[in-house]
Amino acid sequence: KSSGGSDYDLIFKLVLIGDSSVGKSNLLLRFTRNEFRLDTQSTIGVEFAYKQLIIDGKKIKTQVWDTAGQERFKTVIPQFYRGSEGALAVFDLTKPESFDHITVWIEELHRHTPPDLPIVLVGNKSDLVDQRKVSRQQATALAEQLNISYMETSALNASNVEQAFITVVTGIFYKKI
Ligand code: GDP
Ligand code: MG
Repeated sequence: KSSGGSDYDLIFKLVLIGDSSVGKSNLLLRFTRNEFRLDTQSTIGVEFAYKQLIIDGKKIKTQVWDTAGQERFKTVIPQFYRGSEGALAVFDLTKPESFDHITVWIEELHRHTPPDLPIVLVGNKSDLVDQRKVSRQQATALAEQLNISYMETSALNASNVEQAFITVVTGIFYKKI
């Protein structure tokens, strides 16, 4: 079913959560524009960006919300979460604190969204092999405990980025039909 004159069948809102500098803005940039930036703090203040995906022959418009730097001051406003149907909870594989904070981010998310919302735990910066501090086993154990999927990405070399977003979108899609 196509909604009156629009060029898509469904629209889903996703949010990117996680500590500052884990790579959320670059994951968004890689996914929506296939770009990467070394310095995004000053250049990117976008609130959201769109990307169209085709799942099971249906055109899905994904609207992905970024915190636009608010997470640095722990002042992510409720409107950010409101109406979101899926999330990527991102940590930096080289920063254990960012991994430790994941449960706090997910609790915060659940205060504003339904409990069965599809979430993918994302360990980003997989390209920094020599600096890795969080093992795949540790991350997989947390994901199992939270009953969510786990994926390792690199916004820098594009590894697994599209797959991580597609996993969330597919989760939302099959919950709806
Ligand atoms: P945000 O604060 O979570 O939005 O993080 P940013 O996207 O602004 O990224 C913070 C810093 O990490 C920037 O210097 C990015 O260039 C860098 N960065 C982001 N993703 C990656 C990645 O996958 N690999 C590497 N090596 N650096 C990354
Ligand atoms: Mg950012």
